[in-house]
Amino acid sequence: MAAQGGEVLVAGAGFAGLEAALALRVIAHGRVRVRLLTPANVFTYVPAAVIEPFQDAAWAQVPLTSLARVGGFTMVKGMLGIVEAEEGAVITTDGRRLSYDALVVAVGARRRTWLRGADITFRGTEDVRAYRRLVDEVHALAAGGVGIDLAIVVPSGPTWSLPAYELALLTAAHLRARNAGGRVRVTIVTAEDRPLSLFGTAASDALEGLLHDHGVAVRPGTVARSRVGGALVLSSGEQIGADRVVTMAALSGPEVPGLPATPLGFLPVEQDGRVAHTEGVLAAGDATDFPVKQGGVACQMADTAAATAAVMLGHPVDPIPFAPRLRGQVWSGADASFIRSDLAGGRDESHGVVSVGEPLWWPPGKVAGRFLTTALEGGDLREVLRDLAPPRLPGRS
Ligand SMILES: Cc1cc2nc3c(=O)[nH]c(=O)nc-3n(C[C@H](O)[C@H](O)[C@H](O)COP(=O)(O)OP(=O)(O)OC[C@H]3O[C@@H](n4cnc5c(N)ncnc54)[C@H](O)[C@@H]3O)c2cc1C
Repeated sequence: MAAQGGEVLVAGAGFAGLEAALALRVIAHGRVRVRLLTPANVFTYVPAAVIEPFQDAAWAQVPLTSLARVGGFTMVKGMLGIVEAEEGAVITTDGRRLSYDALVVAVGARRRTWLRGADITFRGTEDVRAYRRLVDEVHALAAGGVGIDLAIVVPSGPTWSLPAYELALLTAAHLRARNAGGRVRVTIVTAEDRPLSLFGTAASDALEGLLHDHGVAVRPGTVARSRVGGALVLSSGEQIGADRVVTMAALSGPEVPGLPATPLGFLPVEQDGRVAHTEGVLAAGDATDFPVKQGGVACQMADTAAATAAVMLGHPVDPIPFAPRLRGQVWSGADASFIRSDLAGGRDESHGVVSVGEPLWWPPGKVAGRFLTTALEGGDLREVLRDLAPPRLPGRS
């Protein structure tokens, strides 16, 4: 067992990496040194990307130096290249060697385009402009009297499905506010049995109601194969009208050299966050083989990994068991819908809780992270990030 103290290197400054870095300081009472290896200077609040096509303000970034100040960690600029677990060291992509007592890998998933012929694969902030252009184009055509079918497609396999529903709802609300709703048919095409079925029956019921109220159609249990001309070709061979096609990215793992990987490239992790068959290395978030890809779940994995890392370094810390609870906030241009589901407790037909307008957790961040949400809500950071309450449409003029 390592002597008390020790240094944890966290690779990746997304939800999981930041949550792990912030958690370590608190749970190990400031006795662990934390270094964050990151290529970025800012933390981008990715979930806000769904509202950005509809408003002018760009407000979803926080300087990492502010979070480092709150969390008491230091930063190393660079990218994780190779892990040499037996040596307790990593090699960065620019050839530097960094040693550690424990390593937390939180580098996220790779986002892949997958649907041939799609107009946009919506991966996050980098596709906001393209989506805004597409909505403007659809609006102009509809305003000119042309009927348009817009399909928003959720892939089968690992993906982020919640933002697909938000894009559909927000687009429908945006067009309706500009008197173009009637000529645009927005359809969600998804392999899920029901919308967000992972969150349970109550959430699916509520979301179906919301989609219906916004005039958004849903094709559940449907896998799209390609887009050809004005049609979406389904795996059944059927074709449905689709003048514009937007998909969510298909996710695969980061395939970190030196670490084991599943066939899709994800890091296999144990219940306590340790990477399988690898000494001194933990992982959290979308990079791992846990099948649910979600910021809130990434934070819960990070808390578990942080506690395990502290124990590995000899600190008297209680483990934080991974008992995943899904918490989602659906933005639709009106009151946010809060949905919650306990993945750890046995699931039955009625699992899941829904509330419209009233938060089901506090602080009511869109991504619920025990330490990160609190840090973001605190003092000057709140001003940097402004208000994370759901913006209302109509937005830009
Ligand atoms: C549009 C959109 C909306 C979403 N909405 C929600 C929502 O409402 N609620 C929710 O819970 N989830 C939501 N998600 C999902 C959520 O954003 C992800 O599940 C979450 O970001 C995963 O966190 P992570 O830290 O594992 O990975 P990431 O957030 O991807 O962070 C990984 C970080 O590692 C960095 N990195 C990559 N490679 C390296 C390397 N080699 N070395 C060092 N650093 C590296 C990356 O630059 C990045 O900063 C949404 C996703 C999208 C795209």
